[in-house]
Amino acid sequence: MDECPRCGATLEYLSLGEVTTVSCGRCGYADVPVDHQPEREEGESWREALQRFYG
Ligand SMILES: [Zn+2]
Repeated sequence: MDECPRCGATLEYLSLGEVTTVSCGRCGYADVPVDHQPEREEGESWREALQRFYG
């Protein structure tokens, strides 16, 4: 998934913690590639929270 499905421009990847989103600077297309399962996402954020407490 490197090209915008709408206009074919190169997509930009934006990492927000565990989540990566792609967006197109030309037409404004945005999407979230499905790599992670929701369960794992929740588990990871809990782990980060705990690391902030005990780390
Ligand atoms: Zn586009």
